[in-house]
Amino acid sequence: MMQEKSFQKYFDNYKNIRNEVDAKFNMLHAKHSKYTKCAKGCSDCCMNFSVLPVEFHAILDSIKNKEIQISYPENPNECIFLMQKECGIYHERPVICRSHGLPILHMNNSGDNWELSVCPLNFTTVADDYFIAENCYYQDTFNSKLFMLNREFIQHFDEVKYAENELVELRKLASFLGSD
Ligand code: SF4
Repeated sequence: MMQEKSFQKYFDNYKNIRNEVDAKFNMLHAKHSKYTKCAKGCSDCCMNFSVLPVEFHAILDSIKNKEIQISYPENPNECIFLMQKECGIYHERPVICRSHGLPILHMNNSGDNWELSVCPLNFTTVADDYFIAENCYYQDTFNSKLFMLNREFIQHFDEVKYAENELVELRKLASFLGSD
């Protein structure tokens, strides 16, 4: 697909954001590791996430020439890349999958308060005041960066006309990989 190649700068910028997320994850995970149970084989966080078009096409660009196994879960909420409880696109998995296990802070829908999300398997022994601003992952920081990048991307992407807030289900990648 020649057209995808001309979007390399967006895909490179996406990977820069992804690297920032990984760096933040590593820093925070080091602080929290004694209170988390995350390990290879735990896939409780995996589901059919929807992502912004720039992320969808960046992942597609990275995996389109690779042999990727896809599962065919009956449940539409399950991720097609989860194989025997392991991620089949681990190195290319989306940003949302890269923060799993951390204490995640995000603004509520009305925009007037922070909400904290944690996996119920983790942090079962910490005190209520354990979570402070410095040891949480601010999801909106990275989502804002992705949103701004996506806004520019969809203005230049002619193959599909995406609306500004449109998201794409990860399982739609299957049709581009010839395994619909
Ligand atoms: S892409 Fe990988 S880590 Fe993300 S939900 Fe799917 S299987 Fe899980």
